[in-house]
Amino acid sequence: MSSQNPVFIPGPTNMPEELRKACFVPTLDHRSPAFGKMFHPAVAGVKRILRMTEGEVFILPSTGTGGWEAAISNTLSPGDTVLAPRFGMFSHRWIDLCQRHGLTVQVIETPWGQGAPLAAIEAALRADTGHKIKAVLATHNETATGVRSDIAGIRRAMQASQHPALFLVDGVSSIASMPFDMAGWGVDVAVTGSQKGFMLPAGLAILGVSPKALAAMQTARLPRTFFDFADQIRTNASGGFPYTPPVGLIAGLARAVEMLEEEGLEAVFARHHRIAEGVRRAIAAWGLQPCAASPDLYSDTVTAVVVPEGKNGTDLVQLAAQKYGVAFGVGLGEVAGKVFRIGHLGMLTDVMMLAGLATAEMCMADLGWDIPLGSGVAAAQNYYRATAV
Ligand SMILES: *Cc1c(COP(=O)(O)O)cnc(C)c1O
Repeated sequence: MSSQNPVFIPGPTNMPEELRKACFVPTLDHRSPAFGKMFHPAVAGVKRILRMTEGEVFILPSTGTGGWEAAISNTLSPGDTVLAPRFGMFSHRWIDLCQRHGLTVQVIETPWGQGAPLAAIEAALRADTGHKIKAVLATHNETATGVRSDIAGIRRAMQASQHPALFLVDGVSSIASMPFDMAGWGVDVAVTGSQKGFMLPAGLAILGVSPKALAAMQTARLPRTFFDFADQIRTNASGGFPYTPPVGLIAGLARAVEMLEEEGLEAVFARHHRIAEGVRRAIAAWGLQPCAASPDLYSDTVTAVVVPEGKNGTDLVQLAAQKYGVAFGVGLGEVAGKVFRIGHLGMLTDVMMLAGLATAEMCMADLGWDIPLGSGVAAAQNYYRATAV
């Protein structure tokens, strides 16, 4: 029965039964109007969730990582320079992907636990008087450290330096869970996947692309075939797809958008914030700290908890899985062993979160960490009691 336990990893997230059913569609001819009937509402819904006023949405059979590849290969050419802060495993992996595609990455090394450094980004853009930098890359929510960066602030830095670079944003673990404003923030490509805020199985890369990024496509020379936006535009217009689309996932996405909008996006964001705040109260009661360096950086979708001196976060994650059948996230890269991660996004309620916190406490007691059973749970309970809507 432990397969009934919710997961507390920051993706893939728990799936509502209704979405599992929505993905379960009979075979249909993707060249028939029946496909357009599920595809168009999914595209229109993603546009609303990203807060796009113009541009195109692409839904590709892939994952978030494929979304990154699509974002760069459609807008950049070999040898182009991109500017990217590195402050966690996901910003690191995007940089690696760019380098493997023959791009020159101007990396701004930033301590893990910090967010994208606005002043350093602005300084780098001001120094680039010849406009060699073709794109600025930012990870909105660094899932490895539980840090949310100020995407609007990066756009302001780009404006202040009057730099014409494209602005590419990884919103894989923020979109549909925390406020995201593609139009307001002037984002040129926003990337996400199906298995986080959209509460679906993995299998879709979901992208919002601005007119400026679509124009860049005309001269971008990085090789692309499967992820070519031009092929999508040509075929999507007539309700089709350049190859066989994963219709079940697309049907699921159309329903996921409806579910999010039935709850109301603002309510979805408020729910995530409230659940996250309860987790933070619990961590404080344990006498522990989040990896995120300051409250303005706290993510509402994932918290990386710094473990006590001499303890190993991976031990807790392994014990939780083996003994209690509950999944937490391990520390990645530089913070491997130093943190464990609590994912709190997607289909989650305060009541489910309390079970996760209680399980973490049982593991800490089992491992001999000096943290009293019930301490964090009580702090979260008090917060949830006081803020129940
Ligand atoms: C999960 C995640 C990714 C990777 O997405 P995949 O779907 O696993 O390819 C990229 N960036 C961030 C911030 C993520 O959380």
